[in-house]
Amino acid sequence: MVVPSNIAPVMSVLLCLALGSFVSRYLKSPRMKGRIGEWRVRWMARRLGKQGFRTLHNVTLKTPGGTTQIDHVLLSRFGCFVLETKNMKGWISGSEHEANWTQQFPRQSFSFQNPLRQNYKHLKALEATLGVTPEHLHSVIVFVGSAVLKTEMPPNVTHGTGFVSFIRTFQTPVFSEAQVEAMHEALRMGRLAPTRATQRAHVQHLKQRNDSQARCECPKCGSRMVLRTARAGAREGQQFWGCSAYPECRVTQAL
Ligand SMILES: [Zn+2]
Repeated sequence: MVVPSNIAPVMSVLLCLALGSFVSRYLKSPRMKGRIGEWRVRWMARRLGKQGFRTLHNVTLKTPGGTTQIDHVLLSRFGCFVLETKNMKGWISGSEHEANWTQQFPRQSFSFQNPLRQNYKHLKALEATLGVTPEHLHSVIVFVGSAVLKTEMPPNVTHGTGFVSFIRTFQTPVFSEAQVEAMHEALRMGRLAPTRATQRAHVQHLKQRNDSQARCECPKCGSRMVLRTARAGAREGQQFWGCSAYPECRVTQAL
């Protein structure tokens, strides 16, 4: 096809506009927003890596009951930091000792497991693998995405890159360089190989137990599915799997 020379510039502008809108829509999709949030956490963790922190991501460890999966482990002379990321929207309220926290939207609210309790299992698994005393293991919750923390939270419940300032409050060395290196090595050897097969087996196991940590993906948008409890309506009190990108994506699955 021969395009008249006066049409060509117009067509290229239109093409650029179409491409631009496609890219911006893609970046704004719930799946990408979550991924970007998680990338930022990883990027910040890497910056800490340049300051002597050893970082490991997606660490699957064997536990007496199966396996457990940790988002990020940061090892340093100041302690071991265990990060659990939560890609969520809406208003989040809860406190340290409550079993369940609430995620609220204008017309709907859900309860979900207190992430500090969820992360406690990770700390226990790490304690067993590394033989570290609990006082040097620190739980850190990192909310990514547009969630707003509506209640006073303990300092280790953070949003975005706020986890870095929390970690930097630890200034007293408790390990030697050699000990940090030994822990890094022990974790590299003790973790299950970070393969798709490990991931699949882990999710399968959790789904069988209806465990809220199961990292299954939404069939429609690819965001993480989360175990929710309906707080109102006909299904009040019932648990179900819902897409974490709610309200943009309303996919639900029965248990
Ligand atoms: Zn979805």
